[in-house]
Order: sequence, then structure tokens, then C-alpha cells
Amino acid sequence: GFAVRLRAVGKTYDNGVTALGPLDLDVAKGEFVSLLGPSGCGKSTALRLIAALSTPSAGTVNVSHRAKADGRHPIGFVFQEPTLMPWGSVRDNVRLPLKLARAPSAEADRRIEEALAQVGLAEFADAYPRELSGGMKMRVSLARALVTDPDILLLDEPFAALDEITRFRLNNDLLALWRKLHKTVIFVTHSVFESVYLSQRVIVMTARPGRISAEFRIATVEP
Ligand code: ADP
Ligand code: ADP
Repeated sequence: GFAVRLRAVGKTYDNGVTALGPLDLDVAKGEFVSLLGPSGCGKSTALRLIAALSTPSAGTVNVSHRAKADGRHPIGFVFQEPTLMPWGSVRDNVRLPLKLARAPSAEADRRIEEALAQVGLAEFADAYPRELSGGMKMRVSLARALVTDPDILLLDEPFAALDEITRFRLNNDLLALWRKLHKTVIFVTHSVFESVYLSQRVIVMTARPGRISAEFRIATVEP
């Protein structure tokens, strides 16, 4: 079954800029897809539409997920900037979406520890963002997206600002997490390397307004 289905989706902003579409896209449950395209072609717009952070000007966006429950949220979003609250510890930052999703507090504590372990930050729960490197901040951001056990993970050029070695480590850790957690992942990037290395399918977009110009399945040896 599908996790995300877009049909003839277009987006024109209030200032008259047509950022996207028309776009047709199906992402299967558990699939890892990359959206690859030049800056300004509407990749972030597409993610925001899928996350319902923005509404389409045309077409339909359907997202399929498990029934909602306290402490869970169907979509986890990782932005290009880690956007951490500087006055909160790593634990406080990762707790935020659990508060919004009304997780009971014992459950919240358990999930925070689990999410921090998943991203390799178990030892850093009490640290503050200013004490962390760029790569570690991005790990906190990833933990914050995973902590509500989403079905779909949307990542908007998450590693673009990192040095190459840190970026490669995070690529490998993200891939390992995907293999373990079986979440649907949509990964926005303008790196050909990242898109081919990480995903099962690469969707190449045209310049603005972004439409699909090509699509490649990446053949890999099954694990
Ligand atoms: P990408 O993620 O591929 O770089 P974006 O989706 O961020 O592309 O932007 C696509 C186009 O839409 C750009 O021209 C950008 O300036 C414009 N845009 C993005 N968000 C808004 C907005 N909220 N209001 C008006 N224009 C926007
Ligand atoms: P909508 O509410 O129409 O779905 P958004 O919530 O994405 O659109 O954006 C709300 C407003 O934020 C836009 O109408 C615009 O005024 C402003 N905005 C945000 N990002 C940009 C940008 N990159 N360029 C121009 N305006 C922007």
C-alpha cells in the first residue's frame, strides 16, 4: 500500500510564485525515496505539503498511517537547520513533540532514552545544544523526529551544512536506522551521491516549478 500519494499537486504562494507542480507521486510504505533537484525547485514545498504544514493550491495530498494514539505522531520532520531550543537540554529538546502528542510522562521518559540511543546520543541527554557539534545537533534533531514513532520520516537536506566525513557517518547511521525501523523515508537533497547511496528510488525534479523529470530505481543487493 502507499504511504504518500500526491495527485496533480501544485503550489502557488500568496506572492504569486508557483513553486511546484503539477506533481504525481506515490511512495510505498517502508520505501526510502529521494527527491533530487536544483535549489528553489520546490522540494521543501513538497515536503511541507506532505506534512500538512502548508496547503496545496491544486490537487490532492493523501497520507496513510496507523491510527493516531497518544504519544505518537504520523510524521516526523527533520529540517535543514537543527532548530534546537538553546535553553533546553538535549532531553528537553527531544521531549517537545511528546508534549504536543500528549504522551504520558513515564512513557515519554522511556521513548526519549530509546530515541537518543538510536541516534548514538545516550550519553548526551543532559548536554546543551551549545556544547554539541553540528553533526550531534543534527542527531538530536533526528531523535526529536523519531521520538513520536512516526510512520513517515521527512528529511529536508538535513546534512547539507555538515563536513563530508560527518555527513557520511550520518548517511550510514540513517541507512541503518531505516533498515531497522522500517519507516517510510522521503529525503530531499541536491546531492546525487546522497540520493543514490541512501535511497531505493531517486526522483529527479525540474527547475521551478518542480515537476518530475526522471525517476530511477536503485538496484541493491538485498540485506
Ligand atoms: P527547494 O526546497 O527545492 O529549494 P522551495 O520549496 O524552498 O525549493 O522553494 C520553491 C520556490 O518557492 C522558491 O522560489 C522559493 O523562494 C518559493 N517559496 C518557498 N516558500 C515560500 C513561501 N512561503 N512564500 C512564497 N514563496 C515561497
Ligand atoms: P500557505 O499558508 O499559503 O500554505 P506557507 O504557510 O508555506 O503558505 O507560508 C506562509 C507565508 O510565509 C507566505 O505567504 C509568505 O508570505 C511567507 N514566506 C515564508 N517563506 C517565504 C519565502 N521563502 N519567500 C517568500 N515568502 C515566504
